[in-house]
Amino acid sequence: MTTHAAGLDPTSFEQDETLERALDLLTDRPLVVLGGAGMSTDSGIPDYRGPGRPERAPMTYQEFVATPQAQQRYWARSHLGWGRMRHAEANAGHRALAALDPELLITQNVDGLHEAAGSRRMIALHGRIADVVCLGCREVTSRAGLHDRLETANPGFADTHAAAAVRPDGDVELDDTTAFVVPGCETCGGALKPDVVFFGENVPKDRVERCYAAVDALGDGGGALLVVGSSLTVMSGFRFVRRAAKAGTPVVIVNRGTTRGDELATYKLDVGVAGFLGALAGVGADFSGFS
Ligand SMILES: [Zn+2]
Repeated sequence: MTTHAAGLDPTSFEQDETLERALDLLTDRPLVVLGGAGMSTDSGIPDYRGPGRPERAPMTYQEFVATPQAQQRYWARSHLGWGRMRHAEANAGHRALAALDPELLITQNVDGLHEAAGSRRMIALHGRIADVVCLGCREVTSRAGLHDRLETANPGFADTHAAAAVRPDGDVELDDTTAFVVPGCETCGGALKPDVVFFGENVPKDRVERCYAAVDALGDGGGALLVVGSSLTVMSGFRFVRRAAKAGTPVVIVNRGTTRGDELATYKLDVGVAGFLGALAGVGADFSGFS
């Protein structure tokens, strides 16, 4: 059964039957939580699949590795975006989820805000934007360090393009990037790539297997899968919902707008994630975050 609770008045939050049932279902059970971009919108990181966001075609892995010009274009845009994204802070939803401390938190976000809020038992499915990997020697270094090198190599660039619009993956709108200087790996001189999973690139297999194992364990332990702030557009996350549903494990989806998993959900709630997580974790004394 799928129950939609769209358009709820926040003041009726505690009375709403669907919410009550969903909270009852999730309370005192082993949980795996799958989180997406909707977790971070309150931190000022836009959800490019959310309402009102433009369609875009992100650079694929194949495009990135094909030419130095593509890497130049990527890093020039990303340099501007990350200069702002690095200052984003965890919000009430991140903190509630850290307090909830599920068996495993699988996040599709690369912003590092769950870690900042104190979540520990977690897997960053698509990697972390704060890490950089060398395509030559596979050494992983910090984005903060590269940011400083990019600043030094491109003086004044960030100020010149300060008005460009930032995107959720740290990318920005920017056309002319031919003058941007991209330093190579300090160890081997190889090309550097953010240590995140690009479109056209697979999530590392061991990472996927750890997630599947946690989802499978829910079936044995009377647990449930909770999806928060994801439209489940990308198969890398949706497959865990399918896996849980196939095993008969209850699935609750909390997201603004429809998701690809709605038909598989025991309950689907079209409400704000921060208020819901606050109520579930018992840290939501008021529902000011419920919007
Ligand atoms: Zn290297």
